[in-house]
Amino acid sequence: MKPGEKLRYERPYLKKLNAGMMNKSGTPGVAKITKEIEGVPVRDLVEQYGSPLFVLSEKQIRRNYQSAVRAFQTRYPSVQFAWSYKTNYLNAVCNIFHQEGSWAEVVSGFEYRKALGNGVSGAHILFNGPAKQKKDLLLAVENNSLLHIDNLDELYLLLEVCEATGKKPRVAIRVNMDTGVYPVWDRFGFNYENNDAWSVLTKIVRSGKMQLVGLHCHIGTFMLSVEAYRIATSKMCDLAARCGKLLNNTIQYIDLGGGFPSTNTLKGAYLPGVDTVPTIDDFAEVITGTILGYGFSQEELPMLVMECGRVLIDDAGYLLGTIAANKRLSDGRPSIIVDFGVNTLFTAFWYDHLITPAQETNAPVENMAIYGPLCMNIDVIRESVNLPVMTPGDKVVVHKVGAYNMTQWMQFITTRPAIVLIGDNRQVHLVRLAETLEYLEMPEIMPSHLKLKQTD
Ligand SMILES: *Cc1c(COP(=O)(O)O)cnc(C)c1O
Repeated sequence: MKPGEKLRYERPYLKKLNAGMMNKSGTPGVAKITKEIEGVPVRDLVEQYGSPLFVLSEKQIRRNYQSAVRAFQTRYPSVQFAWSYKTNYLNAVCNIFHQEGSWAEVVSGFEYRKALGNGVSGAHILFNGPAKQKKDLLLAVENNSLLHIDNLDELYLLLEVCEATGKKPRVAIRVNMDTGVYPVWDRFGFNYENNDAWSVLTKIVRSGKMQLVGLHCHIGTFMLSVEAYRIATSKMCDLAARCGKLLNNTIQYIDLGGGFPSTNTLKGAYLPGVDTVPTIDDFAEVITGTILGYGFSQEELPMLVMECGRVLIDDAGYLLGTIAANKRLSDGRPSIIVDFGVNTLFTAFWYDHLITPAQETNAPVENMAIYGPLCMNIDVIRESVNLPVMTPGDKVVVHKVGAYNMTQWMQFITTRPAIVLIGDNRQVHLVRLAETLEYLEMPEIMPSHLKLKQTD
């Protein structure tokens, strides 16, 4: 500054200091730090495999599966789980479930072929979905899979396949119903209340072209109502009993789908998910109690099939990321920009994910927004979260990201990151490479008249 020159006026910025001070909810908690996952340092993982990076815990997946199976098997004599491929169809993940004894639940020809490719026997694949193609039905019939019919046009298509192959496939129908949770998912399958389900069951048995072996429903996802499963189970039991009595067709299995919530916190929820969601034992108690209390004879008691997805994998997945920048918004509120966006962490649209720093810090805790790297206004990871101030290069860990991210992620603006699986003895297995430009451009074809010459 030259002598005599006046100091430039700067507008003062006043902000209530709330780090470490009482507010109406008491003192803000000390920030939790996550320096390692299953004993492997976050820093090492990112150094070796890049950032962002998805990390899965094999131990946690097996633990989740075994405790879910235990919840049902200790209450019911015949239980079979089928892994919901769309929840996470990374082959390494699917094969952990298959090793544990799970069948496969698929909703497209693509997923069906994936399950076959993983070595699942055709008889252990449940084929769901509202738009199965003829070639997929043919393949599934040849492999003796269980076909869950969604609509009448599919039934007619399947009848053509029966004619063509001379086979008598094993089928179930998907049933939708009022379970007291609204809106009712009535776009999949046949309705219970208006008798559509019953009339199609009659049609199938009378056709003599298929074996009616099961009944299927999947009443919603992230269901917080145990009562809804009591209603669904009892309606399914009613249909099964009528098939036995009136159509002389014993139903071998009732499939109650998935839909159990993980312990993530839904956006807008007042209390964290860990404190509010029912446990698998709560659901198992109601479902098995309803079937056992229905009055089936010993020989008629159907096998119970469960297609749980989210609840078995969500808390086994983490996303590691790096702070790219710190930035104050126009009102002075702090924000950070991280190197993963909603393209990578799709569930940021639904959940307030727990995010923790990966390094020790004495920095004050501030309320901030977390933004992703996309040049898009919707790219918000957390609107508002209390975290210690961090600097570019610092790492963060996003928790409970195992379900519906590694399948629903979008290739948009950036490439998708690598995925590692931590197995026994802290062994780290790379199970999916980070995508590259070459990989993504492989299917593209450039018309010759659009090729640029050096001078263009
Ligand atoms: C998605 C899906 C599942 C798994 O649902 P979750 O909510 O992840 O448990 C099971 N069955 C069907 C038919 C599905 O579409």
